[in-house]
Amino acid sequence: MLLEGKTVSDGIGIGKAVVLNEFKIDIKKEKIDDVKKELDILYSAYNKVIKETEDIVTTLTGQEKSIMEAYLLILKDETLIQDVLSLIQNEKYNAIYAVETGINKVVDTFKSMDDSYMAQRASDIADMKDRIIAKLSGVEYVNLTTLPKDTVIVAKELTTSDTAKLNLKNIAAIVTELGGMTSHVSIMARNHEIPAIIGIKDVLSKIKNKDKVAVDAMDGKVYVSYDEKIYNELILKKEKLQKEKEELERFKNKKTITKDLHKVELVANIGVPKDVKLVIENTAEGVGLFRSEFLYMDSHKIPTEEEQFLAYKQVVEKLDNMPVIIRTLDIGGDKGLEELHLEKEANPFLGYRAIRLCLDNVELFKTQLRALLRASYYGNLLIMLPMISSIEELREAKNIIEQVKEELSNKNIPYKKDVKVGIMIEIPSAALIADALAKECDFFSIGTNDLIQYTIAVERGNEKISKLYTKFHPSVIKLVKMAIDGAHKANIFCGMCGEAASDELYIPLLIGLGLDEFSMSPTKILNSRKVISKLNYSECKEVTKKILTLASASEVKKELEEFVNKTM
Ligand code: PEP
Ligand code: MG
Repeated sequence: MLLEGKTVSDGIGIGKAVVLNEFKIDIKKEKIDDVKKELDILYSAYNKVIKETEDIVTTLTGQEKSIMEAYLLILKDETLIQDVLSLIQNEKYNAIYAVETGINKVVDTFKSMDDSYMAQRASDIADMKDRIIAKLSGVEYVNLTTLPKDTVIVAKELTTSDTAKLNLKNIAAIVTELGGMTSHVSIMARNHEIPAIIGIKDVLSKIKNKDKVAVDAMDGKVYVSYDEKIYNELILKKEKLQKEKEELERFKNKKTITKDLHKVELVANIGVPKDVKLVIENTAEGVGLFRSEFLYMDSHKIPTEEEQFLAYKQVVEKLDNMPVIIRTLDIGGDKGLEELHLEKEANPFLGYRAIRLCLDNVELFKTQLRALLRASYYGNLLIMLPMISSIEELREAKNIIEQVKEELSNKNIPYKKDVKVGIMIEIPSAALIADALAKECDFFSIGTNDLIQYTIAVERGNEKISKLYTKFHPSVIKLVKMAIDGAHKANIFCGMCGEAASDELYIPLLIGLGLDEFSMSPTKILNSRKVISKLNYSECKEVTKKILTLASASEVKKELEEFVNKTM
């Protein structure tokens, strides 16, 4: 069977399907008469989960095996179900309710410990609880951290927290019904070169667990139970891709410069400290966006100042004086964090998120700022504020930064006194007052992922309206130009860290508009360096002039296509 969707991360991936069904179980609270029967039901489910985990452990090696062994140890220790037993034996509640309530108590105890290791165990225990409940109710439950090699993930939608759990090494491809080019799972897939296709309607009814699936994300195609001919074709295609990748190697360690010697900066977007490896491998010239919220989401709690300090320090030290732009917490919108107990909002993307949340939770903000400032002492760290919509927000945030600096000075804690503070331009109101904002900060970075959604009023992850979501819209281009011009008037640099920065068609326009810094997934660095090396700055400026007179996205795209075909 052939299914077609939209590629959000290219490549070829072949493997076996693991279907993530929505895990929604109605937990009924009931009184029971037969305690022994209920205990039998409980133990049968509990022992099955233990047995399954033991089986998984035998398939693992190295660090993964030790992690799973530690997990098994907690699972087998009956203190885990002490409260569950008491709820059944003494209070005569049904097993499923007792598991939900009893194990949640254990989860809460672990969560309240101020230690990221324990907080991680809390999420393991919550996972154990879900697995026992799934067994009690006969629902299939998939543990995302222990998927077998060559797994093709099939889901209606992958949340950011699902994505954080995935053992990426074992994922051959991702296939979903919902999502968008700039949803975080898509960004993560591109960073790790995992082929991903979205927009496949009713995918859960079309692919079954263990189906053989081949994903051709070069062409937006998913083959289910494919034949040998398709398999051979895809293997050939995969080899060709590998060759092209090898050819890009010659752009390693080269300057990023146009034919007529216009130099720009090419830097990488990262989510966690270990991504630095990808930055170095692809010879990026630094980090243009470190999405710090992934540190929070990965540890399932708010990391302490020390934990953050060590993470930031590790990145700046490894990058040896290259610029590292770390963005302060950008939580909210599509990125949640249980620990913050955020209320559900009608319009989360327009709501309580990023800088708004930080200015309202000054201690949370200050903890991160202390960690950032302390780490600034060890390399070339720049601080970036997300979602700035007004000059007051910038001033308020800078004020808090000054307070933190003073506190550190009073304690003789070292930090870089003139650490640069910049802002993301990702809200139209900020682009429109770029001139004023530029006078009060050290750099801009344009976040097109959000800028497009707010300019055209089209939600970035909503597949139904994804046709409207386009970086070629003249209004988006005008705002990008305003940001760049505003920055240059005030003699500060302007970068772009949204996905548009690595688009082969868009790069000539950005060069023509005078963008100074391009930040993107590390895996896109070499190709972008190649594209830039084929361009002439003077020709890019010419075509940009013409583009600025066009009224529609389709005309802009057509003009750029013609330009690129002629030039490359
Ligand atoms: C953006 O909005 O373009 C951006 C880079 O930030 P994020 O994708 O994390 O919202
Ligand atoms: Mg953004």
